[in-house]
Amino acid sequence: MGKFILVIGPSGSGKGTLIHHARPLFPELVYPKSCTTRAKRAGEKDGEHYYFLELEDFKARVARGEFLEWAEYGGNFYGTLSAEVIPALSEGKLALKELEVQGVRQIREKLPKEQLAVVFINAGSWEEMEARIRARAPMPEDELLKRKLRYEDEMSYMKEADFVIENHLGGVETAKKEFERIIRSLVS
Ligand code: 5GP
Repeated sequence: MGKFILVIGPSGSGKGTLIHHARPLFPELVYPKSCTTRAKRAGEKDGEHYYFLELEDFKARVARGEFLEWAEYGGNFYGTLSAEVIPALSEGKLALKELEVQGVRQIREKLPKEQLAVVFINAGSWEEMEARIRARAPMPEDELLKRKLRYEDEMSYMKEADFVIENHLGGVETAKKEFERIIRSLVS
């Protein structure tokens, strides 16, 4: 049986950077695509990064139980089809995906523990994140509070992760190496 590597951590922790680094190094892994109901952005093509679905189609697939996990985020729906993951795992392959915690919770209920490896990316305390956000652009206090609550929700998952990668300011090269090491340990 294969394994599903879930990469989690607060927004801005560097999940995307680490996955972008790992993809060319591990072409044998499966990288499941998500479905979304949000509008395509400039340059996005259907079936490349996302499968873009009409809301009705998305809801029908939810009703038919086609999703391994799905969530509403920012007024749009996102989800991972079971068909993108389960056949690969049955063939003994490793799959890797970035997810937010609502999705991880659903997957934990559906897949056995032995088939999951949760990698948490920790980019530091809220004070560090807040300083970074404030330095980037001014933000209303209520938006900052929302971010803080989401940050705390994501952080509450750190203790349940199988691996934690520290990715503090200036430490991205070390974090990349650590991510590579973890994937290698799961491949062999
Ligand atoms: P964006 O619209 O910027 O491409 O994505 C917004 C957010 O949607 C991402 O940060 C991610 O948290 C969430 N997202 C993307 N794909 C999935 C998915 O397949 N499942 C879940 N649960 N969330 C997703």
